[in-house]
Amino acid sequence: MSLLIGDKLVVSMHYKLTDAEGTVIDSSEGSDPLTYLHGAGNIIPGLEKELVGKTEGATMQVTVDPAEGYGELNPEMIQTVPKEAFQGVETIEPGMSFEAQGPDGSAQHIVVKEVDGDNIIIDANHPLAGKELNFDVEVVSVREATEEELDHGHVH
Ligand code: ZN
Repeated sequence: MSLLIGDKLVVSMHYKLTDAEGTVIDSSEGSDPLTYLHGAGNIIPGLEKELVGKTEGATMQVTVDPAEGYGELNPEMIQTVPKEAFQGVETIEPGMSFEAQGPDGSAQHIVVKEVDGDNIIIDANHPLAGKELNFDVEVVSVREATEEELDHGHVH
């Protein structure tokens, strides 16, 4: 009997992620399938809930709104900082990205949006925040998680 996807199961799937314009953002094509522990918050909520009840071999298309994906764009995460904040960087251009430390100490991905003289406008939103996400999914396998995987909340 094939397992129906639900909590405490490990799911492997191939996927292709495209944005509203059809541009491919990410894909597992040519590499190992993505494997995750269902019900442990390992993948975005909008995709996880659509996988419930599916079985090995299932294919589906899922559209995920920002609220159930990487969140809405937060205007407070777009800020203007002085050029001096980028010490050691010779040329700052729109589109450049940096790793910085966020207020909670975690790594934050920052993209330069605009350079306006000595003012640099930066965006610390997740690159996929505010975007509609379209997933093409093929479920490759479904298995029971081990005790250890359930303890850790992720796949081994
Ligand atoms: Zn572990």
